[in-house]
Amino acid sequence: MHLSTLPRRGYLRGPTPLEPAPELSRLLGGPNIYLKRDDLLPGAGGGNKTRKLDFLVADALKRKADSLITCGAVQSNHCRLTAWAAAREGLDCLLVLEERVPGSYNPSASGNNLLFRLLGVSSSRVVPGGTDMDAAMEESARSLRAAGKNPYTIAGGGSSPLGALGYAACAEEILQQCFFLGLSLDAVVTASGSAGTHAGLLAGFAGANAPVAVHGVSVNRPRAPQEARVRDLAEKTVEQGGLRGTIPPDAVIVHDGYVGPGYSLPTEGMREALTLAARAEGILLDPVYTGKAMAGLIDLIRRGVLRKGQNVLFLHTGGSPALYVYEDYLLA
Ligand SMILES: *Cc1c(COP(=O)(O)O)cnc(C)c1O
Repeated sequence: MHLSTLPRRGYLRGPTPLEPAPELSRLLGGPNIYLKRDDLLPGAGGGNKTRKLDFLVADALKRKADSLITCGAVQSNHCRLTAWAAAREGLDCLLVLEERVPGSYNPSASGNNLLFRLLGVSSSRVVPGGTDMDAAMEESARSLRAAGKNPYTIAGGGSSPLGALGYAACAEEILQQCFFLGLSLDAVVTASGSAGTHAGLLAGFAGANAPVAVHGVSVNRPRAPQEARVRDLAEKTVEQGGLRGTIPPDAVIVHDGYVGPGYSLPTEGMREALTLAARAEGILLDPVYTGKAMAGLIDLIRRGVLRKGQNVLFLHTGGSPALYVYEDYLLA
């Protein structure tokens, strides 16, 4: 079996650009930095969830689903892209939104919240932080089934083994681009949240027997639980995709020093990263994921973990619609 033989919806229009970031590399004085532009993936506003949904929605349609249920934070990119996929496919979309930061839900907020509405989400239910989200989604699924509907539930962040295959495929895509560029990649740096992106990359590189280090920058959890989550999902993803290879014991690397006070809460490092990427390369990062991941990249260079002479790829997973709900902080 190969990933190209599994059902997908064809949401990708081809490889996303893999491009050098010369000015950022020069300013940081460390490794040669390259950008993988998954912020340019199709989907209202783009971003990493498109790769996962390509597999997940194909599965939903195979099962004759008429509605998609998923969950996320109140400004979730994953929920936006699920709503986008549902709109394209003529499915209903139900969201369960977790208010991880108390008081942060504002029904008339801009950013992703605005786009949920525009994309025609049929219902969104807000639950307090710490709620068992799988149980909350199952509750929604039960009531839809009772009404004669056939819902398909997508795990938070699309991070099931099937969804994570999107990033196993991305690892293959990256290796092929490096092949044509004559580039030998030492490391990838990515945000690590619900972990499908990080785990999928590990599974894909392991399957290709490619010794590329994957540095996951946690946006939420401490290192130990996040590493456990990534490892578990990476192993299940290898199995799901019928990939060869195993995840070596030391392959799971999570850096948890860039979360700051908590998920989605601003940090000075994030602000510095956003400003630097915008001014050096004209790249818009987001405050919740890629801003903190870039803060991690900058610090790993300053600490000498990533060094001159190495080739390092920063995975831009998208998320810029969230910029517009941080204007008070960013303009202050
Ligand atoms: C969801 C998300 C991530 C994290 O990806 P996971 O697979 O959930 O770890 C990173 N960046 C953006 C913009 C996201 O929306």
